[in-house]
Amino acid sequence: MTERAESTNTAGIAGLDPIWRVVFDQAWLSWQQKNFGIGAALVDPADGSIVSVGRNRVLQEEPELRTLSGNMTAHAEMNAFASLDRWNAEGLHLYTTLEPCLMCIGTAMQLKVAHVHAAQRDEFFHGMDAIWAQHEVTASRYPTQSDPLPGRLGQLARLLPLTYNLRHFPNMSAAAKAKHHRPQLTELAQRIVDAEFNNDELGNLRDLPNVDAALVSLWDLLPEEDEVGPA
Ligand SMILES: [Zn+2]
Repeated sequence: MTERAESTNTAGIAGLDPIWRVVFDQAWLSWQQKNFGIGAALVDPADGSIVSVGRNRVLQEEPELRTLSGNMTAHAEMNAFASLDRWNAEGLHLYTTLEPCLMCIGTAMQLKVAHVHAAQRDEFFHGMDAIWAQHEVTASRYPTQSDPLPGRLGQLARLLPLTYNLRHFPNMSAAAKAKHHRPQLTELAQRIVDAEFNNDELGNLRDLPNVDAALVSLWDLLPEEDEVGPA
């Protein structure tokens, strides 16, 4: 292992709760398969056991039992919910590599998730707390939340789905918002998208085995922390 890889691992997944290993592996597999690149898991906080996992499968054409795929409901968190072997998620913790969207946080409240650990904020959906406070059901069920992961691993969590936005929806408001809040990260995401068409050295990123290797490869290009602060 190179010196770079050792220092990267120290700052990356290796020092975290091992649940993140599973969640980031799901995110990487999702991204390798040209989906959004988001992974999720539902965890029992009593013993730390993983109850279900999911990954974003919006472009996956081949259906699989107990999963959503091939359409825009096939988010990572929705797939963790879809494979649950129980009626709801009461008391469970939701781990996800990116802050849940409107659909996924709605489902989390519907199924009574207790707490959300998101590796990084999504500037497009962040800050809706005031909306949920308007109704007694959502006010009482809105899950508590942990802070995002610090450092470049958190930035990588945002980078992967951002490449999907820039590739498929470059002129929509989510891409514009990302450019405003994360100019350096958005520039890197655009470079990765372009690289797949023009043989740039970043063009084979999807061939890397996991996010650890991606972190090593992108270390000098990733912002160290959020660029503009919370959305
Ligand atoms: Zn979602």
